[in-house]
Parts: sequence; C-alpha cells; structure tokens
Amino acid sequence: MSAFAEETVLSVHHWNDSLFSFTTTRDQSLRFKTGQFAMLGLEVEGKPLMRAYSFVSAPYEDHLEFYSIKVQEGPLTSRLQHLEVGDKLLLSRKPTGSLIIDNLIPGKNLYLLSTGTGLAPFMSVIRDPEFYDAFEKIILCHGVRQISDLGYYDYITKELPKHEYFGEMIQEQLIYYPTVTREPFKNEGRLTDLIESGKLFEDIGLPPFNPENDRIMICGSPSMLKDLVEVSKSRGFVEGTSHAPGTYVIERAFVEK
Ligand SMILES: Cc1cc2nc3c(=O)[nH]c(=O)nc-3n(C[C@H](O)[C@H](O)[C@H](O)COP(=O)(O)OP(=O)(O)OC[C@H]3O[C@@H](n4cnc5c(N)ncnc54)[C@H](O)[C@@H]3O)c2cc1C
Repeated sequence: MSAFAEETVLSVHHWNDSLFSFTTTRDQSLRFKTGQFAMLGLEVEGKPLMRAYSFVSAPYEDHLEFYSIKVQEGPLTSRLQHLEVGDKLLLSRKPTGSLIIDNLIPGKNLYLLSTGTGLAPFMSVIRDPEFYDAFEKIILCHGVRQISDLGYYDYITKELPKHEYFGEMIQEQLIYYPTVTREPFKNEGRLTDLIESGKLFEDIGLPPFNPENDRIMICGSPSMLKDLVEVSKSRGFVEGTSHAPGTYVIERAFVEK
C-alpha cells in the first residue's frame, strides 16, 4: 500500500486573498484523533510535494476538511490555492500531533489559543463531544490581523449553536473569543497581551489562568508560541506529552523557513 491515499476535492471556499478551506473524500481506513495533523499535498513533476495540515473536520465525519493559507511564493500553496472540485490530493496515512486530549490531565476549563491557521485543529476540538464531557467550559480564542481573517466566524457564532446533536452543549459550554490586531473590532489586540493584562478573563467572566483548573492548547506562529509558552510556564503550567500528560500542549501552525 502506498504511503499516501489519494483523495478527491469535494468543495472549496475562499475566505479572502490569503485563506481558503476545502473538503475532500476520506479513505475509509484513515483513523485520526481530534487535534492531529497529517501530511497533505499534490503530485508535482511526478513527486509528492507534501506539507503538514491539521484536520478541521472531526474524526466521526465521513469527509475531511482543511483550512489553508495562500503563500504566493509557497511551493505547495501557490498551487493548492487553485484547487477545484474533482481535483486529486495526496494524504499521508499516519496522522500525528500533540494537541490531543490524552496529553492533558483532567481539568475544568480548556483554553484553545490560536492565531491564523492555528484555528484549524481547534475547529475539530469544538465539534467533538468528548471534550464537552471532559471540560465544563471550552474557550476558543482566535487572534488575527483583519476581520476577514476570522475564518469560520459565522459558522461558530450562527450555525454551531443550532447544531442538531450538540447545539445545546455549544450554547452552554463554548466561549468564542475572536480578536483582531489591525482594525477596529469588538475585541482588539494580541492574545498574549490580553492574557497578561487580564482583559481576556474580564471579558469572558472567568478567573485568570490557574494550573489547578485550567488546561491550555496552543497553536500559532512560532513567535506566538514562544510568548504563550513563557506566559503559561510562568503561571505554573507544565507541558504535556504522550508519556507524561500535563497542563498545556502546543503545536506549531507553521514553520518559519
Ligand atoms: C504541525 C503543522 C501543522 C500545520 N497545519 C497547517 C494548516 O492546518 N493549515 C495551513 O495552512 N498550514 C499548516 N501548516 C503549514 C504548512 O505545513 C505549510 O507550511 C503551508 O501549507 C505553506 O506551504 P508552502 O509550500 O506553500 O510554503 P512553505 O515553504 O511551507 O512556507 C513558506 C513560508 O510561508 C509562511 N507560512 C507557511 N504556512 C503558514 C501558515 N499556515 N500561516 C502563516 N504563514 C505561513 C512561513 O513564513 C513559511 O516560511 C502546518 C505546519 C505544521 C508544522
């Protein structure tokens, strides 16, 4: 069996000039955990050109969904942004990643801190009932530059609360906190600043970070990760791994080349 499954594009949605989402078929044998990523790509000049992509879709869905940047000079996304329905994609058969519930010890509130396409794995998390059973509140924070970079905003605010099976859980347990840095919006500023100043906690009506009750998942740019890991460590949080679950976990949303 080849290392890659071939999937067919089912739909494509462009959020703006720099972000798009797409759905694909799902090989029946593919298994992944909520929060994981896999290698996804295209065959270019007879060779696979692959990059890491988090699953936006939940493990129980029969299709796959991804949320992507468009890097104009990027080897993969300069091509991927022109995807059309019916096109073929390659997907590795071995998903992996650290943003999984098993890497966290039980807690009360789960903070999902993301910037940019770092939202992707958390779209899967906020649609997994196991997380709502495990935590009282799930706080999804998404930091971006422009309002148009808030992918899935309408879906999270309008559609999810009406979801046939878990709409009620969403209404009672999910707190969504989008924030924008470069234009006026209801929440403004960098997540790190909003956490350090305490404004985030005032706005959502919960006490500041405390490793006794809170668990944190972080996915964003390398600089955002560095800052938020420092903040988390300084408050007594300990990184969780598959060998030793902890109170926070991280994943890079991309690697700076
Ligand atoms: C664990 C992991 C999970 C990832 N999940 C996703 C995902 O769900 N969606 C996604 O779009 N990308 C994701 N990425 C990044 C992805 O693997 C590629 O880097 C991206 O698709 C661009 O590929 P490229 O070949 O066009 O450019 P590359 O040569 O890979 O990147 C060129 C430059 O573009 C910038 N860049 C790359 N990706 C991003 C990004 N996502 N946001 C902002 N700037 C970026 C960086 O400065 C990078 O140096 C993930 C990366 C890692 C390590």
